[in-house]
Amino acid sequence: MTISPARAILLRLHDVMASKTSAQAKLNAVVATVAEQLDSEVASIYLLRDGVLELYATKGLAQDAVHVTRLALGEGLTGVIAATREPLNLAEAREHPDFAFKPETGEEIFHSFAGVPIIRREVAVGVLCVQHADPRQYDDVEIEVLQTVAMVLAELIAGAGLIDDVAAAKARAQASGAVRLPGLKLVDGLARGTAVFHQPRVVIEHTVADDTEAERARVYGAFARMREQIDHMMNQAEFAGGDTAEVLETYKMFAYDEGWSRRINEAIDTGLTAEAAIERVQQRTRARMRSIADPYLRERLTDLDDLSNRLIRIVSGQLGSAARSGLRGDTILLARNLGPAELLEYDRRVLRGVVLEEGSLTAHVTIVARAMGVPVVGRVRDLRTTIADGDELLVDGSAGAVLVRPSPAMLASFAATSALKAKRQAEYAKLRDLPAVTADGTRITLMMNAGLQGDAAALDATNADGIGLFRTEFQFLVSATLPRRERQTALYRAVLDAAGTRPVVFRTVDIGGDKAVPYMRERDHEDENPAMGWRALRLALGRAGLMKVQARALLEAGAGKTLSIMFPMVSEPWEFDAAKALVEEQRDWLVRSGRPLPAQVRYGAMLEVPALAEVLDVLLPRIDFLSIGTNDLTQFLFAADRANPVLADRYDWLSPAILRFLRRVVVLCDAHATPLTVCGEMGGRPLEALALMGLGVERLSITPAAIGPIKAMVRSVDVAAVRTAMTRWLAVGNPAIRADLAALAGQANVAIG
Ligand code: PEP
Ligand code: MG
Repeated sequence: MTISPARAILLRLHDVMASKTSAQAKLNAVVATVAEQLDSEVASIYLLRDGVLELYATKGLAQDAVHVTRLALGEGLTGVIAATREPLNLAEAREHPDFAFKPETGEEIFHSFAGVPIIRREVAVGVLCVQHADPRQYDDVEIEVLQTVAMVLAELIAGAGLIDDVAAAKARAQASGAVRLPGLKLVDGLARGTAVFHQPRVVIEHTVADDTEAERARVYGAFARMREQIDHMMNQAEFAGGDTAEVLETYKMFAYDEGWSRRINEAIDTGLTAEAAIERVQQRTRARMRSIADPYLRERLTDLDDLSNRLIRIVSGQLGSAARSGLRGDTILLARNLGPAELLEYDRRVLRGVVLEEGSLTAHVTIVARAMGVPVVGRVRDLRTTIADGDELLVDGSAGAVLVRPSPAMLASFAATSALKAKRQAEYAKLRDLPAVTADGTRITLMMNAGLQGDAAALDATNADGIGLFRTEFQFLVSATLPRRERQTALYRAVLDAAGTRPVVFRTVDIGGDKAVPYMRERDHEDENPAMGWRALRLALGRAGLMKVQARALLEAGAGKTLSIMFPMVSEPWEFDAAKALVEEQRDWLVRSGRPLPAQVRYGAMLEVPALAEVLDVLLPRIDFLSIGTNDLTQFLFAADRANPVLADRYDWLSPAILRFLRRVVVLCDAHATPLTVCGEMGGRPLEALALMGLGVERLSITPAAIGPIKAMVRSVDVAAVRTAMTRWLAVGNPAIRADLAALAGQANVAIG
């Protein structure tokens, strides 16, 4: 049986790698094998040392040149290969504009040249090349063989300590230079730090197989597991809908693609390990990606790249996210997308910023990051291809951009922007003890949103009027199991203690939608459209046990105090009644058993489902307060998934449809004297908050970082003028309210940032 050249070489390399000789002797054996198998006069290995490519081993060139000939990155053909990480295949090397002649090597007699980069952790750490006396083009199979050998070399030189990974990363940074990646601003703020991929790339330690059949079995097993995982994801309610569904469809297509598994199998036939075979095929995909201009096709190849990473992680058993590895203190997290629970796995003390390929303004991961005070830029393309783990990054959440491997000029301008921001923050801090009263005397209540125990500290830092929305489900999201009642009580009590005399509004759990809790998946049905599915109050009423435990925890924590409880996603008044009855039942039980009770329990509803607005006159007399959740409300009003990045900037919070809707609610609440708060993200943005005040909203619950900017806006505005303008614009359905309101604010010197 004839064996392929790749297999023949790998069989030889297997022995070389296993031999007990020095690293230099192994390199010499590799070049001898390559030269012989590719029928070439010359085979050479250059390795990166101190940022320069040094000839480490050669068969065919003058031996005196070894460790003497050196080339800068980008210098000569070898330097170009290392700098571009692309192979070169030339029948006549001298005709290439970058050809550099090194007399000490004696290479003047050679015509043809082929070389490939040696890549480790996506960094070119060396070059393997062959030369031939006669002009001839190496064929594709031979280039493939060189690339396979280069993979083995990467393992050999890393194992022998011939390259220093950090130095190599630095060298690449110098070679690849600074890049500015534009994106969508999701959470304001600036951060400087080091790139960490949420799903780290596996570094392949063994490339040459001992037992090809065993490697084949490992790949089969990994394919089966990956297909299972993808089928499972597709079935999971929280993954359905929007872009994610489309991505999963593509994943599925690739996961079951015979061509892909066949190519991996062929790579295994050559003698590679399972990991190395997958990576070998992945390298080819990447090479294709670089040459494809069509954005749609590129995106699909990125999906395949993602999936290759998953397959390598499965086969190597390295499944954890970066959250579980020892993180640097200046981590900038990079991911395609994250769920809020995944983000909460990271230690907030080391997390400086987040960069996502997807993401939207009101997705819960964004809300959580905002609460953590971590800047986020979303919708950034080509993360994997432009950034490597360990690259220096600047995240500009205010401009919506990421600067990769920043230049000195970029760093200087970043420092200037940071200083300006710090100055602004200092100005906001000065407002801390001043009341949020408009220039014409309207007191605006500014409360903050919270969800974790640590958040309560922001009450003092901001001097907010209270917590207008405590998202109790966050405790559920950060727990591996359902939090027991004692733990719930302890959290609520700690938050009430921290708040002192300031009010706290606890919202009962809003699980579901993009807030999936793995230990509470509904087994008997799957939501096709989870935001509109079995979530929030619907789920809580369906699982009365859960609601009862939470009610008891709240009532016990609120003993002797005023307890405010709010129900999410109320769609019809009876749902509020049923939820209140569940809490009252628990209160009666406490009365009967002589336990301490809250001094007062106030019940509120969230207006997030438009249908409720049509029956608000029925509900208002039964409730103590109403809070508008604009994140959900607007997604339902516009039928536009709040987590779908494609729709992220499609509909405007300042559109007449939303503002008219809100005004009707304000008018009704006024008529019933029901306190009304807006607690969605909309209220935390100065221009949007100004519009809300123009509708008559006087209570906002916002992210803590927004308290300063919103108070500055409030104190600088004459709200009567805005009300007049708003009435006029809404009457005619003005489509340009954003621009007109900004102009009005500009003329009146309103601080809208
Ligand atoms: C909202 O929907 O506006 C809201 C405040 O609730 P959440 O963002 O938690 O869904
Ligand atoms: Mg909501």
